Amino acid sequence: MIIKEEAIVLKSINYSNSSQIMSLYTKHHGKISMLAKGSRNKSAKQFAGTFEPTIHVEIVYREKDVNVLAIVREFEIIDYFYGIRSSLKYMYNAFYLLDFVNECTTSHDPNQGLFQLLHTSLKYLSLGANAEKTRFFFQIKAFILLGVMPILTECCACTKPLVGSYVFFIPKESGIVCRRCKANTESAFLQISMQTLRTLQNLEVMPWTGLKKINLSQRIVNELNMFFRFYLHSFLYKELRTFKLIGNSYE
Ligand SMILES: [Zn+2]
Repeated sequence: MIIKEEAIVLKSINYSNSSQIMSLYTKHHGKISMLAKGSRNKSAKQFAGTFEPTIHVEIVYREKDVNVLAIVREFEIIDYFYGIRSSLKYMYNAFYLLDFVNECTTSHDPNQGLFQLLHTSLKYLSLGANAEKTRFFFQIKAFILLGVMPILTECCACTKPLVGSYVFFIPKESGIVCRRCKANTESAFLQISMQTLRTLQNLEVMPWTGLKKINLSQRIVNELNMFFRFYLHSFLYKELRTFKLIGNSYE
């Protein structure tokens, strides 16, 4: 079957002297691994450049069977996101988003909303948006799209309103619990401040245009980094490889 569609390159590795194997997030078929024969060979006319992570392409590929590596026939670059390449900070944050999508999705499981979210996030980074805010916004919206959004609006054990200066995030319960309920559980937890919880609640409901209005103190940034790290670890059973790139960076 020959398929033509848009995709974002999540990862690419060189294969033999002239080819590449990559993981792409396609608009209509989700994550797909593909082989681009001769893509590193400059005279290969069917390829307008090599596949680099972050680029947005229109791709034509042949897929015999979902269990066999798809073969790229041709591709064209739609957006190179040049702005991302202007600083290491943007590159690291973009790599983190790609890593997130690559690790949190399974092959051939389409999610057009996630494709759109990734595309818009890369566009924002490319246009010079605040990298921290973009990364936090992306992750919360991705959790919603992937159906793993934790309950943040009330205690997920007793359903009472969350009050006080601290609350406790329990990945196993997929939500926040109050102080009283926390005392009744032995599950692993992460203590976060009420301000960080409020920021998460805002991120959950706000549109892209709301990002400019949120203020992040260094403490909130640190707690949000811990929150995402802790939660992702609870279902990936590992840390995102790119966490170390962004873990200590802030604006
Ligand atoms: Zn409770």
